[in-house]
Amino acid sequence: MHELGIVYEVIKVVDSFVEENNLAKVDRIVLEIGQLSQAIPRFIENCYPAAVSETAYENTKLEIISLPANGKCKLCNEVYNIVDHRKICPKCNGEDFTLISGQEFNIKEIVAY
Ligand SMILES: [Zn+2]
Repeated sequence: MHELGIVYEVIKVVDSFVEENNLAKVDRIVLEIGQLSQAIPRFIENCYPAAVSETAYENTKLEIISLPANGKCKLCNEVYNIVDHRKICPKCNGEDFTLISGQEFNIKEIVAY
């Protein structure tokens, strides 16, 4: 499963962070996922418990922040959600936009002590 692979990759990154910083316990992992990213937050959340079961992260919470797929219209500079508006500017009906967010997949924060 695609999402499970992603979760394992995230845990790998967290692992090296924990090691480098000599941390005892990770309380929370915060991910930032864009609306156009290949990773679907709901699926990530669903496979996370299985991925961390019986590991050091069993009690670590996962938090996902969804970032909207926003585009900026090249004609009138309106910023709009290109998914909600099917890539058509709601202000001028232009179809030319610059993508300003939505493709992110970041580990935003690792809360540990
Ligand atoms: Zn426009």
